[in-house]
Amino acid sequence: MSIGETGRRLLAISAHPDDVEFTSGGSLARWAAEGWSTHLVVCTDGSKGSQNPQNKRETMARARRIEQEAAAQALGITEVVWLGHPDGELTRVPSLVEELARQIRRVRPDRLLAWDAWRPYELHPDHRAAGLSAVDAVLAAGNPHFYPLQLQGAHGLQPHRVEEVYLFGTDQRDTWVDITATFERKMAAIERHTSQVASLRDLALKMSYCNQGYAQGHGVTYAEVFKVLHPFCDT
Ligand SMILES: [Zn+2]
Repeated sequence: MSIGETGRRLLAISAHPDDVEFTSGGSLARWAAEGWSTHLVVCTDGSKGSQNPQNKRETMARARRIEQEAAAQALGITEVVWLGHPDGELTRVPSLVEELARQIRRVRPDRLLAWDAWRPYELHPDHRAAGLSAVDAVLAAGNPHFYPLQLQGAHGLQPHRVEEVYLFGTDQRDTWVDITATFERKMAAIERHTSQVASLRDLALKMSYCNQGYAQGHGVTYAEVFKVLHPFCDT
């Protein structure tokens, strides 16, 4: 397990390749540059990320894996873990929560990032399922009575309590992260997702407008926003 200069670890859980680049790529690049060890778990294979019926799903999954690995490198992410579930079919089932709890116990992050599953009218089922499962896994990972088989044996994992959960894609934002210094790296990472980006120029304008909007009133040029939870501070 690599540990960054700060000794602090961060785990982002996404539904698809490209989720974190759009929602929190500037923040991830900033924290990685500050010395955080940053890890990413991608729940699906991204194989339905195309409107072209001629595209084979296996080919798309392969391409998206290469794109995500390159984007992660651009952001300074230490490790990408692929759960490989079929794109568009993710549901909040106990086995997914168990998989994510295992990753939390393995990485032992201080900070976890995930989709806000409670945002009204979040249409994508994978985003809802990944967000809800991630938060459920945070609670399970901290309790030895959940998935005790993960804790057994000489190389058994230990329960782990995540200090902070940063929910992205939220409309209940209470935390602003200044990404002025890393906005270009965010855009460079997004550009690695060539299968998903029709017009780089349009996308750059859209992201610039969006992150400038979040920054308004905070004395910075670009910002990303989150709803932050402290799951264990009251227990
Ligand atoms: Zn997505």
